[in-house]
Amino acid sequence: MKTDVLILGGGLAGLSTARHLGGLGVRSRLVVEAKDRVGGTAGSRTAGGFTFDYTGHLLHLHDPYGRALILDLLKDNVAAHERRAWIFSRGAWTRYPFQANTRGLPFAVAVECAAGFLETVHRPRRLPRRPDFLSWSRATFGDGITRHFMRPYNEKLWGTDLSRLTTDWQGRFVPKPTASEVVYGALTDSNALFGYNATFRYPVRGGIQALPDALAAGLEPGVVRTGARVEAVDLREKAARIAGLGEVRYERLVNTLPLNVFLDLAAPLPAAVRAARRSLRWNAVWNLNLGVVREKVLGDRHWAYFPEKRFPFYRVGSASNFSPSSAPAGHSSLYVEASRPGGARVDVRRLEAAILKGLRAAGILRRGDELSVKEWMPIDVGYVVYDFAREAAVRTIFRHLGKAGVESIGRYGAWKYSFMEETILDGRRCAERLTGTPSAPEPAPGELRALK
Ligand SMILES: Cc1cc2nc3c(=O)[nH]c(=O)nc-3n(C[C@H](O)[C@H](O)[C@H](O)COP(=O)(O)OP(=O)(O)OC[C@H]3O[C@@H](n4cnc5c(N)ncnc54)[C@H](O)[C@@H]3O)c2cc1C
Repeated sequence: MKTDVLILGGGLAGLSTARHLGGLGVRSRLVVEAKDRVGGTAGSRTAGGFTFDYTGHLLHLHDPYGRALILDLLKDNVAAHERRAWIFSRGAWTRYPFQANTRGLPFAVAVECAAGFLETVHRPRRLPRRPDFLSWSRATFGDGITRHFMRPYNEKLWGTDLSRLTTDWQGRFVPKPTASEVVYGALTDSNALFGYNATFRYPVRGGIQALPDALAAGLEPGVVRTGARVEAVDLREKAARIAGLGEVRYERLVNTLPLNVFLDLAAPLPAAVRAARRSLRWNAVWNLNLGVVREKVLGDRHWAYFPEKRFPFYRVGSASNFSPSSAPAGHSSLYVEASRPGGARVDVRRLEAAILKGLRAAGILRRGDELSVKEWMPIDVGYVVYDFAREAAVRTIFRHLGKAGVESIGRYGAWKYSFMEETILDGRRCAERLTGTPSAPEPAPGELRALK
């Protein structure tokens, strides 16, 4: 088989590349996807009348083109929501983000957090050019907020000591309130909508799978092949071995598989690239989805963060609170997220027992609650760990892939922390580069930041 552009992976990045290449007149392109459906991490599964995503997959639309495209793809199958996100800590429910909502916590904790923040304003700390996340958090939010939320929550999520983590990932994802917002949030119940995810959209029916399905439906028949696992890529011969298809020869290659997976399949690679590959770190997200025979099991909250060590999960959400059609009447759904180092063996039965115990300890599940569905949907590569080795490793790898004529894009192909809209835009920019089309300007960092 031969194709001009071979696209590895049928998630949003791969599908978007194929769509935009088509729009620029490239008909000869092939997307190969290992699973039996498209969508990758932005896919859904159904079980027992529930539709489950890989945890929560909410649409944050910040770019005019991305917004227009996604809304056009989903047509009337989309609804807008105002985030209802909470934090459970010290036995109290407080609003997200923690740094601007400490009222409700034990009084001494709220005072420690507010006073620590004010200290940072009155006595700013000097930071090195590339600070570690822990020092940065103390300098930005103060010791109290770092101690009670930033450190325990992020160590749970990233599975690493925060002094080993850079701040390269956090610009858009960690909202920074003003001093008055911090004081206000310590004294009153303030529902100011901070952060990049303050509002979101979500399909009315079919879970987030509706989005990749709509992208795939716009492609000509035969462009996407599911059940087609990439087994090996010969970068010199420009040929890939694909299960069910045999050898596929290409002119240009677009990778959207996780970079670690791709590099393990690709050859030949120089020693420096193989060494860089070995230094890549990531987390797997162990996602347990539950169908509960009771309404509003998480109250009216969309999702909640759990910084404390006594809970094995860092976040729990309820899709039936933003998509009632995702659960049968009289039921609710829960997605529970626990993080483990990538590639580590996990005793799933033990983790499941600990999760159920934690959900009862938090008062989410009650004695006698019936679970009609328990479904694990793990994400093998969930979060790229931004440690101090990442930047140099990624530079070495991309320099080589560039010389070999390979584009590696998307959240995992580019080895970064990003969201669905950005992934779709990655595919557009990749198609533009491949066709030599002048690119739409990259969004300035501030454009996506949208702090409030
Ligand atoms: C826990 C979590 C929560 C998230 N929540 C949100 C959210 O609320 N909002 C948001 O906008 N974004 C969210 N994201 C990010 C979003 O999932 C990604 O930005 C996006 O889906 C990435 O798409 P992709 O195409 O780059 O990668 P992927 O979706 O991973 O696509 C890669 C594809 O490659 C396939 N593949 C792998 N190996 C092979 C092989 N050997 N052969 C062939 N195919 C292969 C995979 O099956 C997959 O389909 C979240 C991510 C995670 C992990």
